[in-house]
Amino acid sequence: MIPAYCDQCGTELVERRVESRDRKWCPDCERVVFQNAVPTAGVAVVDGDRVLLVERAVPPGEGDWTIPGGHLEVEEEPRVGAARELEEETGVSAPPEALTLLEARQLETFAGKHVVSTGYAVDVADTTGEPTAGSDAAAVEWVAHDEVAARPHRPHAPRRATAAVRELGE
Ligand SMILES: [Zn+2]
Repeated sequence: MIPAYCDQCGTELVERRVESRDRKWCPDCERVVFQNAVPTAGVAVVDGDRVLLVERAVPPGEGDWTIPGGHLEVEEEPRVGAARELEEETGVSAPPEALTLLEARQLETFAGKHVVSTGYAVDVADTTGEPTAGSDAAAVEWVAHDEVAARPHRPHAPRRATAAVRELGE
């Protein structure tokens, strides 16, 4: 989201070119109000050629299937946040140290949001708990990695599901 007002003093921001980019500038504080991508993390639980997906119950992307994940809290390590989101959304627990790093990348801009996502995979054998839809999830389902694209999905979900299965499954 593009800020319209200074978060420190409330003054309306203006555009100013700083370090080769047009940026938001507060004329009162005389400083740049930086815009940064939001850090997120997620984890794909792998069982053979399948991954555990959730159907989003809330916007943006309500009704889309995706890999459990979400925003990191302040001072939260990505793998800890990924395990926390997994448990909140699916009821499945995984020790953060059991997660394997797949990738860290800027995701496709979605609903005006810029997101950097750290993606992990974990073997179902390293998890506990039966999958059940939790917060932000309308449903939870095991889906073959090559069938993710056939249902409504977040843009990164098929690619990451396949990467998770290649890393830990089949
Ligand atoms: Zn200001």
